[in-house]
Amino acid sequence: MAASRLYIAVAPGDGIGPEIMDAAMTLFKAAHVDDHADFIPAQMGKEVFDTGNTRGVTDEAVRTIEDCGVLFKGPMETPKGGGGKSINVTLRKLFSTYANFRVFKTLPGVQTVYSKAGIRLDFSIVRENIEDTYGGVEHRLTSDMVQCKRLISAPGSDQVHRFALQTARTLGVSKVHCGHKANIMKMSDGLFLDRFKAAAKDFPEIETGDVIVDALCMNLVVKPQQYKMIVLPNLQGDIVSDLAAGLVGGLGFAPSANIGRHISIFEAVHGTAPDIAGKGIANPTSLILSGIMMLRHVGLVRHAAIIENALLAALETGLHTGDFGDPSLPGYTKEPASTKDFVAGIIAKLGESPKTVPAAPVPEQDAPAFTHAPRPASQQMIRTFTNIVSHVVGCDIYLDTPLSPPAVADEMQRVAQDTPFRLTLISNRGTQVWPSGSVYTECVDYYRVRFELREGVSPGQIGQSRAVTLLDKIAEKFTVCSYELLRVFDGVKGYSMAQGQ
Ligand code: NAP
Repeated sequence: MAASRLYIAVAPGDGIGPEIMDAAMTLFKAAHVDDHADFIPAQMGKEVFDTGNTRGVTDEAVRTIEDCGVLFKGPMETPKGGGGKSINVTLRKLFSTYANFRVFKTLPGVQTVYSKAGIRLDFSIVRENIEDTYGGVEHRLTSDMVQCKRLISAPGSDQVHRFALQTARTLGVSKVHCGHKANIMKMSDGLFLDRFKAAAKDFPEIETGDVIVDALCMNLVVKPQQYKMIVLPNLQGDIVSDLAAGLVGGLGFAPSANIGRHISIFEAVHGTAPDIAGKGIANPTSLILSGIMMLRHVGLVRHAAIIENALLAALETGLHTGDFGDPSLPGYTKEPASTKDFVAGIIAKLGESPKTVPAAPVPEQDAPAFTHAPRPASQQMIRTFTNIVSHVVGCDIYLDTPLSPPAVADEMQRVAQDTPFRLTLISNRGTQVWPSGSVYTECVDYYRVRFELREGVSPGQIGQSRAVTLLDKIAEKFTVCSYELLRVFDGVKGYSMAQGQ
């Protein structure tokens, strides 16, 4: 690969993917993007799943993306239920694209309740992209219970918060909110929020705030213009960003960038729309807008601005595909444009600026800024806290049993008699059912029994093997379905209380 050229991996996708990717590429070619960049095919999606490859991406495609450092992709079909996992999630996690950045802007020609009310929207969401429940770490624990582990790390949170705050600084965004549910998930969302507050100290010029995610959803519907940028954990960010897309006209108008330290992925956020695939009528706007973000990312800032202005200028004439349109605009036609005609309409506007909405400033020249760091020899460890002293102070043992809470308590107290631990809590679905609780708490076949150090035994006095020995004793009589050690970190409890405790 020549050092002076940009190389971008491309995967058109499934369903309408090839049609909208062809549209985006035709536009880029007309704007002379290929004077600077080569687009290298990367094979993934349905055709790869169909060969029996459950990852849905070939090894060669993985290497192509690693070598290019940038992937431009169309939507990919995800097998439902069993079978292969989502390629989108696989790629984001494989290449550690820790921040999903989506921009929500009112576009001319796209009618929404807000545009009709004269309210212009322009805000963004930065969603953590790797952790949370998206690890897909799931287990069946008993006949009746399954679990999904929710993982939130300090360095993972730091990466996404710093990306959000740095992007706000670069774009001149004055206020960044952290969305969360730290009132309920005090440890996991609590850590996400704490790390936001810590990172914000390095960006004193940016006003920051936090908002509980349910209130955020209501506020976004009632008064969306109060937000400039919101950073959220993965699952909450996924849901809120689709809500936000709805405010500006739907998924077809919200570009998406997945940003990592070495590799970034730019994609349409809508799916493969199988019902209209092959008909030549799909709307390529989301992919084009994502492509514009990509051109800015690789430094083709002049090309990006010219293409963005042409798109806005075309939209404000009334040019539209079948899924949107504003009959009040001068060039609106009852018959929607095909995908090809829609792109031809944008190409005809290259070099022009929109008149009814602010134009993107066109820089004198591009500013190639994209440098691809050398390939690391192995996976990198990211760490935030070091030198923390931790001690085992107990364990939570999860049992598969139909016994009643008092019966479980009797058995557990007997087993723990000659150990350094005493039974302190039994909970069912997170609610305390022993030593106190309500007889009206309905129980399932999955109990947590908590053991903590007896009085007189101090943290550090015993090692984790004593807690494992206790597990062993319980496992002789009960079906154990999972196990967590309880630890203190620098003297602070590293575990939550039960509801009602
Ligand atoms: P979808 O593909 O987004 O389609 C839902 C509906 O939205 C379509 O039937 C179509 O509605 C409309 N639509 C979406 N994109 C459009 C476009 N560019 N132009 C015009 N209309 C568009 O959602 P889905 O049906 O839930 O998912 C289908 C497949 O896509 C699934 O396999 C799913 O896993 C996958 N998916 C992939 C991604 C991704 O790769 N990033 C994201 C989401 C879903 P009409 O009925 O009005 O024609």
